[in-house]
Amino acid sequence: MRQTHVFLLVALLLAGSLWVYRTYFGTPRPPHRRPAGATSPGNRRVEKTDDEWRAQLTRSQYNVMRGRDTEWPNSSPLNHEHGTGSYVCASCRNPLFSSNTKFESHTGWPSFYAPVVSNAVYTEPDGNRTEVRCAVCDAHLGHVFTDGPAPTGLRYCMNGVAMTFTPGGE
Ligand SMILES: [Zn+2]
Repeated sequence: MRQTHVFLLVALLLAGSLWVYRTYFGTPRPPHRRPAGATSPGNRRVEKTDDEWRAQLTRSQYNVMRGRDTEWPNSSPLNHEHGTGSYVCASCRNPLFSSNTKFESHTGWPSFYAPVVSNAVYTEPDGNRTEVRCAVCDAHLGHVFTDGPAPTGLRYCMNGVAMTFTPGGE
């Protein structure tokens, strides 16, 4: 019995070190390729190496935008942002959402019913969910669900850490 415990402990330690190694020293992530036919506003594109993204982004931004992590619910100050303005991609400043389409979803993540223009983002299947990515830099932003309010019925459930709020506009 004792031997089993020691074995389990060693296995856990090994798995933990492997996780730390792969997270911090692992091989660079290959760039994500947007689907064929996807466009972006003005056909703008921002493509960087994994090292460049690591240098530019904070660790939590990197983990969400390049590693497809999800931030903790209610962790983003943008949940409480009610001003007029636009929400731009934190990586490439591509305008993603307008404050006009923001609504309180009570999920703990900033939520919108439509992107500012249809090709500001693109979607890809992600298991039984639909992933939303920035059309300019391919950053993972969040997911879109079909339980949103009128007029679209969509709920773009975004990671606040992936966006910067820019006040102004209408
Ligand atoms: Zn972007």
